[in-house]
Amino acid sequence: MASKDYYGILGVGRNASDKEIKQAYRKLARQYHPDVNPGDKTAEEKFKRINEAYEVLSNPDKRQKYDQFGDQWQYADQFARAGRQQAPSWDFGQGGTTFHFGADDLGSLFGDLFGAGTRSRRARPRRGRDIEYPIEITLEEAYRGATHTIALQTEEPCAVCKGTGRIQNVSCASCRGAGVVPSVKRLEVKIPAGVKEGSRVRVAGKGEPSYGGGASGDLYLVVSVKRHRLFERRGDDLYVDIAVPLTVAALGGEVQVPTLKGTELALKIPAETQNGRVFRLAGQGMPHLGSSARGTLFAKVNVVLPTKLSSEEKKLFEELAKLRTG
Ligand SMILES: [Zn+2]
Repeated sequence: MASKDYYGILGVGRNASDKEIKQAYRKLARQYHPDVNPGDKTAEEKFKRINEAYEVLSNPDKRQKYDQFGDQWQYADQFARAGRQQAPSWDFGQGGTTFHFGADDLGSLFGDLFGAGTRSRRARPRRGRDIEYPIEITLEEAYRGATHTIALQTEEPCAVCKGTGRIQNVSCASCRGAGVVPSVKRLEVKIPAGVKEGSRVRVAGKGEPSYGGGASGDLYLVVSVKRHRLFERRGDDLYVDIAVPLTVAALGGEVQVPTLKGTELALKIPAETQNGRVFRLAGQGMPHLGSSARGTLFAKVNVVLPTKLSSEEKKLFEELAKLRTG
């Protein structure tokens, strides 16, 4: 088996300090990173080798074993137990050093390379992406707020390859090399009272996860509100038509006004109320998102003329007609 020259791969001397190794690694990893060289197999292969070299040389214990046993350093403990001071000449039949990278390891390295970390000393892994989820609610739900259970289509790191997409240099069959698998996440979300058509409700930290151990993105619920059969909404105000019998409109009286609470409010209307007249019910409109203020409910009179008149009623109308023209 050809010996892998980890020092050569990173372009440093055998006496290089940890800092020199880290610097060399960063420079090369940035150059050969798959994000920078999409589809370039040579760069990908090189990137893998750079990572492998760095994983060994950045770890004092592994580096010491590597210095002693070359690329069979992994068997150093076995050699030691067998009393050997050098790697045996026989081949272990391994295709090379098995190289594990958990999703978190990867991310913290990449975050270090591409995040703000390149300039500042602190590594900052990339944050997960924000996602949007459309949600349709009723006007009643917009009025009092609601809780919905939603099913989010997301992806999670593949458990088989630990998110790397590869197992021993072979594309992972479980995720077809993607490193992630689709998953459905059920989530209970709260929709605050007062949301409007197009409101975006932020659910912090429920977006895509960061594959680098960073913060998850946010989930945004994009609200649409169904039309209501009685109420029309304009901003925080509500409009409703109320049916008023002709006699009540003429003589004055009490009518019931529906509200989004589900209860009815008694409204006194004066005598000779005209058709189309609008009454304001302050504070009975929609709640204002994020405050205790409320809009106004506008109740519009819709005078209902009587039908199926009895002969007696008809007679009274005739008398009324005479009086009005007389
Ligand atoms: Zn996989």
